[in-house]
Amino acid sequence: MTHSYNLYPLLPTLRYQDLFFDLDHTLWDFESNARATLLQLYQELDLHQLGIDDFTRFYRQYLEHNEKLWDRYRKGFIKQEELRIKRMRLALLDFGVVNEEVAALMNTRFLDLLPTRTILFPYTKELLDYLLQKGYKLHLITNGFEKTQHSKLQYSGLAHYFSNVITSEGSGSLKPKPEIFAYALQQAQATKENSIMIGDTLEVDIWGAKNAGIDQIHVNHLTQERVALSDGSYATHTVFSLQEIVGIL
Ligand SMILES: [Mg+2]
Repeated sequence: MTHSYNLYPLLPTLRYQDLFFDLDHTLWDFESNARATLLQLYQELDLHQLGIDDFTRFYRQYLEHNEKLWDRYRKGFIKQEELRIKRMRLALLDFGVVNEEVAALMNTRFLDLLPTRTILFPYTKELLDYLLQKGYKLHLITNGFEKTQHSKLQYSGLAHYFSNVITSEGSGSLKPKPEIFAYALQQAQATKENSIMIGDTLEVDIWGAKNAGIDQIHVNHLTQERVALSDGSYATHTVFSLQEIVGIL
């Protein structure tokens, strides 16, 4: 059983003032959007003809490569361009398809189409409406690319909710590095004590915020269990749906 304590019983004002959201996999349903986009390409480019007989398996391979490559990108081992083309090339290669032309075409089309997709996690807009109404200032800190992330926000109708959108490109840093959080606080004219980070990835959003002295809400859309950070500690709060955040903020 968990207890929640009001640490500031004498203060009638809100504990937090500035809320920093992650975008991909937290509000914007990256997996569903990527799947829909790849399925469209699978049909458009007739990948079945090339020997990729099972879309679901192809998609799984893509996800696996994408995740590994993103990890390498975050660590600075590879550049943006390599991450983008390689996830296509490697997913094709898993089916014995060596075709640089198709890989390049998929890469371009995918990058054009993906940001126009609009699938959000349930309760995204309701939550953001609720938080704005309560007087919080909302911001984004995202490791995505500047142009891509702004397109996603425009197409999915989220752009107007956020006062500041901090991307890795714009800040010259990446979560979980402390510099991007310092930059975000400065842009938002916020203090770490009155801020909270809300995101899905423990090693990136949660660890990064914690390291920068900012409280965190881990949004775990994947399992129904609280997961510890690599040092054995936990996020300030864990939720399993966006709706649960209403109980915290
Ligand atoms: Mg994320």
